[in-house]
Amino acid sequence: MRTFKNVKINCIQGDIANQPDVSAIVNAANAELKTGGGVAGAIHRAAGPQLAEECQPMAPIKPGEAVISAAHNLPNNYVIHCLGPVYGQDKPEEKLLADCYRNALQIAEEHDIDSIAFPAISTGAFGFPMKEAATVAFETIKDEIGQLKSVIEIRFVLFSDSDLRIHQKILKTIA
Ligand code: ADP
Repeated sequence: MRTFKNVKINCIQGDIANQPDVSAIVNAANAELKTGGGVAGAIHRAAGPQLAEECQPMAPIKPGEAVISAAHNLPNNYVIHCLGPVYGQDKPEEKLLADCYRNALQIAEEHDIDSIAFPAISTGAFGFPMKEAATVAFETIKDEIGQLKSVIEIRFVLFSDSDLRIHQKILKTIA
């Protein structure tokens, strides 16, 4: 756990679709804002079909963009859907990944959200190397912290123990 200017950043191992104590969860979405594999599958399954129905008019979104919806059957207030870059295809990858984190935090602020949980966007089907993605995520969040008024807790939910350890290690090195 690290605290920057009163904002707590935490890493845990778990399922992004089972974080009942945060106001918003972030979806590693596809452009069509539909269900799929990985994070999007877990979130849409837990939220129910109304989530895809609500999102349909907002689709398609572009890499780096974020949109917000209700959480339906999930135990949260909101889902923030980010489209990460496909590694090796959507360029510049690092900027587009940073845009996801910046835009998600900005939308959270606009909705007075106090706590938000992120998965490791782009590191699954989209192929972004885990260490590089974690560095982009934490550097971007640290740079944005001064702008945050409502968000006081940021949680990273990693699927595997090794992904958790990578995130914990990189979070420690952020100056
Ligand atoms: P992307 O298409 O943006 O790469 P994925 O959903 O394929 O998104 O994967 C993003 C990351 O989330 C990967 O590291 C994957 O292991 C992890 N992941 C998959 N399912 C879950 C889940 N239910 N909760 C948290 N993380 C998950």
